Amino acid sequence: MRFPDITIAIDGFSSTGKSTLARLIAQHFDFLYLDSGAMYRGVTLFAREQGLIDPDNTIDPALEAALKTLDLHFGQGTVLFMGTRNIEKQIRTMEVSSQVSPIAAVPYVRSYVDRRLHEFSAAGRVVMDGRDIGTTVFPDAEIKIFMTARPEVRAQRRFDELVSKGENPVFEEVMNNLLERDYIDSHRETSPLRRAEDAFELDNSEMGLTDEIAWAEGLIRGKFGLLDAPANNGGKAE
Ligand code: C5P
Repeated sequence: MRFPDITIAIDGFSSTGKSTLARLIAQHFDFLYLDSGAMYRGVTLFAREQGLIDPDNTIDPALEAALKTLDLHFGQGTVLFMGTRNIEKQIRTMEVSSQVSPIAAVPYVRSYVDRRLHEFSAAGRVVMDGRDIGTTVFPDAEIKIFMTARPEVRAQRRFDELVSKGENPVFEEVMNNLLERDYIDSHRETSPLRRAEDAFELDNSEMGLTDEIAWAEGLIRGKFGLLDAPANNGGKAE
């Protein structure tokens, strides 16, 4: 017996470490990891390159038809591709970060991303992170986690990540971008960011990765009555 083929939904505010925890869970328990935020970032990059979004975030309605030609998919594990192009680096810039939330508030963009996410996860055994996974994309997910952390901790994490990628960020801009995205994401009409009623909340302001994975493992084992199964065999009981 191994850990069951469930779906795990991880939602929460920007830069709470959702993707880090999701990756760890995927590695540890042998799940497919899907980063839904990368898809919204990919659509944003596309809109920018096609000239379908202005600097003031006005979105050209022609984006809806243009999305029919957009091929976004994951390759080499969790790397996002637009057609044959690896766009992982371009989607993480501050320019894309500053326009992604207005794009993600558009209903037809959400339908496009939802449809693709369902296609990618058709085989099951998936851990997916985002803002509306436990509420809209997979409302029946067996495990739902909602992540929070103090804003200054989150801004520092995002700042460090940008520096490590060779960018030259300004701390206040990073902080403002996080707060602005949290506001837009929580107040939009379609699938706003909120904690699903049956989600377990994790505030990781003071936690390290080892604590987080232990917490998640406890949650999964507890939920499926696997508390007595061997603890350290890659999540697969014999
Ligand atoms: O997770 P990440 O910060 O990369 O997501 C970028 C943006 O994509 C979020 O700020 C949000 O506007 C949007 N998003 C969303 N729904 C999701 C995942 C991301 O609206 N499920």
